[in-house]
Amino acid sequence: MFDHRIHNFNAGPAAIPLPVLKKAQEEFLNFKGTGMSVMEMSHRSKEFEAVLARALDGVKNVMGVPDDYSIILVQGGASLQFSMVPMNLALPGKKIDLIQTGAWTQKAEKEAKKHAEVNIAATTESENFMRLPRPEEIKLTADAAYVHMCSNNTIFGTEYHWLPDTKGVPLVADMSSNICSRELDVSKYGLIFAGAQKNLGPSGVTLVIVRKDLAERADKKLPSMLQYRTYIAENSLYNTPPTFGIYMLALTMEHIQETGGLKATEARNVAKANTLYEAIDGSKGFYRCPVNKADRSRMNVNYRIYKGDTANEDLEKQFVKEAEAAGLAGLKGHRSVGGLRASIYNAVGQDSINALVAFMNDFARKNG
Ligand SMILES: *Cc1c(COP(=O)(O)O)cnc(C)c1O
Repeated sequence: MFDHRIHNFNAGPAAIPLPVLKKAQEEFLNFKGTGMSVMEMSHRSKEFEAVLARALDGVKNVMGVPDDYSIILVQGGASLQFSMVPMNLALPGKKIDLIQTGAWTQKAEKEAKKHAEVNIAATTESENFMRLPRPEEIKLTADAAYVHMCSNNTIFGTEYHWLPDTKGVPLVADMSSNICSRELDVSKYGLIFAGAQKNLGPSGVTLVIVRKDLAERADKKLPSMLQYRTYIAENSLYNTPPTFGIYMLALTMEHIQETGGLKATEARNVAKANTLYEAIDGSKGFYRCPVNKADRSRMNVNYRIYKGDTANEDLEKQFVKEAEAAGLAGLKGHRSVGGLRASIYNAVGQDSINALVAFMNDFARKNG
């Protein structure tokens, strides 16, 4: 085992910035002189209300959220949003458009179908989701209730570097695995959601940013806990929220601000992804990335190891095992795709990328 921190390439829950963990450790037993951990205090105390405000203001400032949007924190993960979005945003007699780009949009489709007819506006399933649809392939319904997309496909390693033009129909984006990794214009979206455990902190908190008028679409007979308006009206304190996760979200937002905001974060992520993809593409075919170049993710880098003309699972298994022993964790690909995957979220530094590339070059020399 290790007596130091390893290079963490886990897909989620995933690495958290070290300064955030240290700050939490420093404040763990006695939060700001209260004599309690932040986990041990009332969610209605003024101390916790201040933490919640730091988290929400942090998101607003970091992401540049306009005033006509509400920022709320819910539980149930991104997976509950696959249900809450259609429950709240579907409209009688109107279709939901969905761009099918992998396992997470398939799960969203399954839930959306329970509330409305779903039009698959485009799909790349026949190509194993190794690319995104091109803009001209997306066939949207003119008056859909909304359009659902997943901005970064964690499992398949694709990421949009452009936005579909929905012609005024609200765009809903599952940003679980690339939220706060790059600059964005929130006003282009109707609703954004993300589970926290990739780029925002620990699991248990889900961030939802919703245009206020859209939150008013929902039938008031829906369970209160499943209506966005409940969270908006009660400032995410209708019931006991995941207080420690919210505290970690506040620290993570402050860390992003202290390290240059989304612009600087994006520049670091571009450099990291470039280093890794260049190592793969420059390995003379030993490592190969199956993902279409223009759609490659900066957060989840999928690749395989080849022996001659075929991917070699034995070498991949050996790679994962030896990498783990060398302090490089979480490199096994998702079970549905196989191969290798390096998840390189905001908290994974260039130093970790360099360590991985050095290991890869060495492994290729020994086994190529
Ligand atoms: C991880 C992930 C999810 C699932 O999140 P849960 O919090 O486990 O529900 C959904 N969508 C994407 C894009 C993800 O990366």
